[in-house]
Amino acid sequence: MARYIFITGGVVSSLGKGLASAALGALLQARGFSVRLRKLDPYLNVDPGTMSPFEHGEVFVTDDGAETDLDLGHYERFTGVAARNTDSVSSGRIYSTVLEKERRGDYLGKTIQVIPHVTNEIKDFIGIGDDEVDFMLCEIGGTVGDIEGLPFFEAIRQFTHDKPRGQCIFMHLTLLPYLAASGELKTKPTQHSVKELQSIGIAPDILVCRSEHPIPEKEREKIALFCNVRKEDVVAAYDLKSIYDAPLAYHAQGLDQAVLDAFSISPAPKPDLSVWQDVSDRVHNPEGEVKVAIVGKYTQLEDAYKSIAEALTHGGMANRVKVKVEWVDAEIFDTEDVAPHLEGFHAILVPGGFGERGTEGKIKAAQYARENKVPYLGICLGMQMAVIEAARNVANIKTAGSEEFDHEAGKKRFEPVVYHLKEWVQGNAKVSRKVGDDKGGTMRLGAYDAALTAGTRVAEVYGTTAIDERHRHRYEVDIKYRDQLEDAGLVFSGMSPDGKLPEIVEWPEHPWFIGVQFHPELKSKPFDPHPLFADFIRAAKEISRLV
Ligand code: GLN
Repeated sequence: MARYIFITGGVVSSLGKGLASAALGALLQARGFSVRLRKLDPYLNVDPGTMSPFEHGEVFVTDDGAETDLDLGHYERFTGVAARNTDSVSSGRIYSTVLEKERRGDYLGKTIQVIPHVTNEIKDFIGIGDDEVDFMLCEIGGTVGDIEGLPFFEAIRQFTHDKPRGQCIFMHLTLLPYLAASGELKTKPTQHSVKELQSIGIAPDILVCRSEHPIPEKEREKIALFCNVRKEDVVAAYDLKSIYDAPLAYHAQGLDQAVLDAFSISPAPKPDLSVWQDVSDRVHNPEGEVKVAIVGKYTQLEDAYKSIAEALTHGGMANRVKVKVEWVDAEIFDTEDVAPHLEGFHAILVPGGFGERGTEGKIKAAQYARENKVPYLGICLGMQMAVIEAARNVANIKTAGSEEFDHEAGKKRFEPVVYHLKEWVQGNAKVSRKVGDDKGGTMRLGAYDAALTAGTRVAEVYGTTAIDERHRHRYEVDIKYRDQLEDAGLVFSGMSPDGKLPEIVEWPEHPWFIGVQFHPELKSKPFDPHPLFADFIRAAKEISRLV
């Protein structure tokens, strides 16, 4: 039976609960324990798949095809444990399950209520797979006191009582604001947020206090006294230069020891932190710098491309260079020349995206990279744009475009080199879709195999010809243009195993130009950089030495 750690937040949002949870997971692993991390989100969307990246940041896709919160990306990057569909849930999903059961008659005769029906559903979810790991870390999204979060807090309170004593602990993140006028850290907001938790029956065992300044011993004692925890259980979380310092920083502040103490695990196994020491060393001691332009649409909110930014950092770590990312809004190329904006970059990345806005700019960025021999990585929409660019400017298919934009505009303007995918194979089953289907959960989602052509750059980069990568797309490069495009020099170097869906294209004469229909960034880790990102940054480093 797993031990449970429930992670909640108070005072303000965006305190880094996800990062703290992920770092704690990594520290428990370093002490030899197995872990799984889980996120419970109070919003009413069934999953974040239908939310705009501007609202919610990136949608993180799991191998088994769930569209989840970006915190699951942190969990995977710090623990290497592949998240599953059962590691992310929202109020929307809980309620829709309860309502389906009600309609089916599962509760026949009963009045359906938040307690016990909704809370039971949450508890069942939390308990999934509890015999598989030593520790289950469950993060509750939002802040204590939010109306929407109440059923989750009530459920974790009950869950703790359903389990034997000592099987569950609560860890609460708060903020200690600094008042410059009096030169003091203020503990009152923390006291209030702990009171709020206590009023719903939850007494935190460990307090993680975010602070921009060192927490004096006196304040630590005060927090311990007023919040009913031991002084050692008040753990400081200071601002860090890199998120990858978090495991070592939390260890230095005693977080993992406090957790083991709370579970009375004694003697505590000694941690092996060598992986994180190496990661920190690579982050802080680069031997050079490369500049990468990300030409995208959601550039105002960096969280929209979280995993890509992290995977680029990992690529830099693999090559011992710092990767300096600049965000370029693709829409500026609607009115301005590309060259002045992209000159001086050692590599260009066009990420995934939805909708027509900004796509002509992305096509121009791909053209610039191809013609100027700048390393180019196109991801999902970024691959589709590279193919359209090749079709228009090299293969003489002048009106090449994507059906995605024609569907949106309600007219047919383009030759559909990229078409609406309506049928594909998943495992042994056929999946079909039609125009007008629901938007939620209907894309080609999750891990799919691809077969790479031996001798191509991509096969060399991966060091194998059989890969699987995570997908999230509705449109696809049409295989019927393959011959025409290959005659123009673009190589289709990776295909779905049935040979029907193009997965990877590359320009073999170019120093490094690869487009992939999937999202390699989702599987990259600081201690195991994804080969495509590692090699992309290697190519950028080479260019940086030439110029
Ligand atoms: N909008 C494109 C599609 O659905 C690309 C999706 C993506 O980049 N994730 O195919």
